[in-house]
Amino acid sequence: MPKQRISLEEVSNLSKKERIEKARSFSLKYRVGDGKNFRLKDYKTDDYPLFKKDDKPAAKEVLQFGVQALAAMQDIMYAQDKWALLLIFQAMDAAGKDGAIKHVMSGLNPQGCNVTSFKAPGAEELDHDFLWRCMKNLPERGRIGIFNRSYYEEVLVVRVHEQILHSQKIPEKLVTKNIWDERYKDIRHFEQYLCRNGIMVVKFFLHLSKEEQKNRFLDRIDNPDKNWKFSDADVKERAYWKDYMTAYEEMIINTSTDTAPWYVVPADNKPYARIVIASAVIDAMDAMNLEYPRVSKEKLTQLKKIKQDLLTEK
Ligand code: ATP
Ligand code: MG
Repeated sequence: MPKQRISLEEVSNLSKKERIEKARSFSLKYRVGDGKNFRLKDYKTDDYPLFKKDDKPAAKEVLQFGVQALAAMQDIMYAQDKWALLLIFQAMDAAGKDGAIKHVMSGLNPQGCNVTSFKAPGAEELDHDFLWRCMKNLPERGRIGIFNRSYYEEVLVVRVHEQILHSQKIPEKLVTKNIWDERYKDIRHFEQYLCRNGIMVVKFFLHLSKEEQKNRFLDRIDNPDKNWKFSDADVKERAYWKDYMTAYEEMIINTSTDTAPWYVVPADNKPYARIVIASAVIDAMDAMNLEYPRVSKEKLTQLKKIKQDLLTEK
């Protein structure tokens, strides 16, 4: 992680390769590989070593570099048609999931990208195992899939409100005190399975302070254009803040791995959070060793011949 503040002139002078290298480095600090020793208190919600907190223009410009790099990489990923990338977003309400998805993915080709939002499960979903609805929405090869909430709700909201478990139609004898450990294990194995199949999994916890959530709720109440975003249910969940933080910590301890890492993104400052996310996505795509598919010698000869024919066409 670079200690010094970044200068934009410096970034503009870098080669494409150096820019990607620099872009990747922004997120390293927030990456939790093996979660065994993870403690949430070691991660701040307002940890911004690269910018002054209110320097939004600088942050926007750097994000723009990131978005451009992402778009270029996605183009190759799509052409190569081998890897897929699954990005999972989890957070307390008003942490900025929607805005982060919108801004970070803004330069992407929509054909290669799919966003799925998961709400409380409906009747059909409850008739299946908890991974079912997510599996149906996994990205195809060459594509990026984004989950706005995910199967992780099964160890977050369901863990905080255990009574939900009893409306899930799971046979009673399977609901024991081991259920959370079993779910962590199932999720770990599921993600390992995906990774072994070329579907990379990267997970983001947008880490917001309780104070900043209050500010954002107040803003949603005071600003008529944001009234629609306000839900009194969100305020009710706020009352369980401590329980949620414990659930998030347990989740990261038990499901963060080197192959499917969690990023604990400081989310009190939206532009900064977006840069960290873009950087982590660049890091994941860089590990795919992306390159455009090369055609065979025969095909090249054929292409030359067709070109000649086109140029001499009457
Ligand atoms: P926004 O509020 O920005 O529109 P959101 O993701 O908060 O987006 P909501 O419709 O407000 O969407 O909330 C979805 C709700 O569904 C959340 O409270 C979440 O905890 C709940 N939910 C998601 N998955 C599950 C699940 N498996 N079991 C129970 N509740 C779930
Ligand atoms: Mg909501």
